[in-house]
Amino acid sequence: MLFRTALSDFVGLIFPQVCLACEEPLARGEDYLCTLCRTQLPYTDYHKLPASENPLARRFWGKLPIRYALSYVRFLRRGRVQHLLHQLKYKGQRDIGLVLGRWYGAELAEQGIATDFDLIVPVPLHPRKLAKRGYNQSDTFAEGLALGMARPWSASALRRTEHTDSQTRKNRTERWKNVAEVFEVAEQLAIVGKHILVVDDVLTTGATLEACAAALLAAGAAEVSVATIACAEH
Ligand SMILES: [Zn+2]
Repeated sequence: MLFRTALSDFVGLIFPQVCLACEEPLARGEDYLCTLCRTQLPYTDYHKLPASENPLARRFWGKLPIRYALSYVRFLRRGRVQHLLHQLKYKGQRDIGLVLGRWYGAELAEQGIATDFDLIVPVPLHPRKLAKRGYNQSDTFAEGLALGMARPWSASALRRTEHTDSQTRKNRTERWKNVAEVFEVAEQLAIVGKHILVVDDVLTTGATLEACAAALLAAGAAEVSVATIACAEH
C-alpha cells in the first residue's frame, strides 16, 4: 500500500489532479481542465468569421498583411483564462499549451484552414529568459497546433537578437520600438515562399506578433498569419 500511495503521489505530480483553470478537483477521465471549464471558456470562434468581421484581424489593418488573425479564447483578467495562462507560463504546466494547441488545431482543421499553413513558428523567448524558465510556453502551443492540424512546426526559424526590457510600463509606440528590431529569421530556407503561422500565448497590443511577422515577410515569407491562446479585449 505504501508503494501505491507513493505511486499516486508521483502520478499526481505529473498529472495535475485539479482543474488548471478553476482548481476544482478533476473527475475521472478529465485531464487538465474540468468539463465545465472546457465548455465555458470564452472561445472567440474568430476562425469561423470572414476576415472583414474578425475584430482581431482589424487590429493589424494598415500595419501588415496578416492573412488569419486567430485566438482560441478571450483573455479576461482575474478569470479562469488568466489562471490557466499563469499555470502555463510560471507554474511549469507546459502540457496545457500542448493540450490547448491540439484542441484548437483540431478545430482549425475542421474549419478547413489547417492546410493553408506551411509552417508553425512560435515567438521565441530570449535565451536568457528561456534558461531561467526552462521552457518557452509558446513552443508547447505551437507543438499542440502542429499535432492538431498535422502541419510542421519549428522553434528555430525565428530568434531574438537582443534582450528586451520589461514592457509593462511602456506605451504602445515605445513597445513597438522596443521589439521591432529584436526578431530575425534564423532559417531563411525554411520560410521563403511559405505561409507562416506565428503563435504566442497572449496577444495584448499585437506588437510582438507584428515584429515577428515583419521579420518573416522581410526575409521572404509569402504570407503570415497569427494565432494565440488568448487575446486581450481592446
Ligand atoms: Zn475547471
